[in-house]
Amino acid sequence: MSHPPYAIDELISAKSIAARIEVLAREIHDRFADTDKLVVVGLLRGSFVFIADLVRELDLPVEVDFLEASSYGDGMESSREVRILKDLRGEIGGRDVLVVEDIVDTGFTLSHVLSLLKSRSPARIETIALLDKPTRREVDIKATWTGFEIPDEFVVGYGIDYAQRNRNLPYIGKVRFT
Ligand code: 5GP
Ligand code: MG
Ligand code: MG
Repeated sequence: MSHPPYAIDELISAKSIAARIEVLAREIHDRFADTDKLVVVGLLRGSFVFIADLVRELDLPVEVDFLEASSYGDGMESSREVRILKDLRGEIGGRDVLVVEDIVDTGFTLSHVLSLLKSRSPARIETIALLDKPTRREVDIKATWTGFEIPDEFVVGYGIDYAQRNRNLPYIGKVRFT
């Protein structure tokens, strides 16, 4: 697939993301303060930068695991069909779990992953999404915590890609075709 030329306009600065994560980490800490060990599950690949920053702000015993679900492929539209490409390494039965997602858009991905993980009987399971596009929702789901609500724009950076590019930008930007 080839892509037309595009520019990236900053939407959320690296500083704003860091400040928001500090607040979210305090709320997560309060919710899970009594946990033996929190299993923080990152949804690959878009959440890898967010989870790295988030766990370093969490003053709790944590274990980190990853799950890869696909819905977008390399395009810009959700396929609405969620496939599990890579499952967790560890067991979550009876454990406290925090699922970390980059963006909740139509909601298909998070709701599919959540019902899959709930079927394994965790003690508690909560979700956090860095970004939420509420106007795009097709499935009635909301993460326990949301970093930022954003308009219906295609965004990149801070782990999030366009056709596998721009994940290494330190901020969130929106794609503008030039
Ligand atoms: P949903 O299943 O909620 O429609 O889609 C969720 C997934 O679609 C997100 O985890 C993310 O991987 C991808 N996605 C949604 N919006 C965007 C976007 O603006 N940019 C990119 N790169 N991916 C997005
Ligand atoms: Mg994702
Ligand atoms: Mg992607």
